[in-house]
Amino acid sequence: MLLEGYRKEFCLPPNPKAKHLRCYAHLDGNIGEVLPYLNTVLGGYQYYQEPQMLTLKFQAKLITLYPKMIAINMVADEAEGEKILEWLKEEINNTWKNRSEIKPSFEVSAKPRILDIIKLLPKDNCRECGLPTCLVFAVQVSEGSRLYKDCSKLDPLSKSKLKKYLNRCPPTI
Ligand code: SF4
Repeated sequence: MLLEGYRKEFCLPPNPKAKHLRCYAHLDGNIGEVLPYLNTVLGGYQYYQEPQMLTLKFQAKLITLYPKMIAINMVADEAEGEKILEWLKEEINNTWKNRSEIKPSFEVSAKPRILDIIKLLPKDNCRECGLPTCLVFAVQVSEGSRLYKDCSKLDPLSKSKLKKYLNRCPPTI
């Protein structure tokens, strides 16, 4: 087993209006070697070799795996963070066990362009999504920490175009 345990830590992001937690797991082992295999298995969003890290998109959250740490944003509560960490632990250990049958991937997926997203947003800066501007919203959609559906002002045509555009960008898990 590559990963036997970890120490959890939960904290609020610096933004005082934020309602979600950030969750960190400080790992008791080094998972660096499994990251390219996980990139294949889970369809990574971004993979870097220097410094080594793999980012995954998961239900509008960004999960970043480093050799000795896992960071998850937009966590509703501690129970949700623990559930995601346990799922990741299982995926890490299963992928490590089966690595001889998996082709490692060092590829980086194409990231959706902020400009392409903002073109389809209402640009009202109405703040109904909880963010100060549509540009900030576009940045967060591009990074995967927000869903396009979180903009309540999107008209049906723009919504369908945005969905189509985002679906051909990075894979979601
Ligand atoms: S809800 Fe939509 S229109 Fe309003 S600020 Fe957010 S992204 Fe812009």
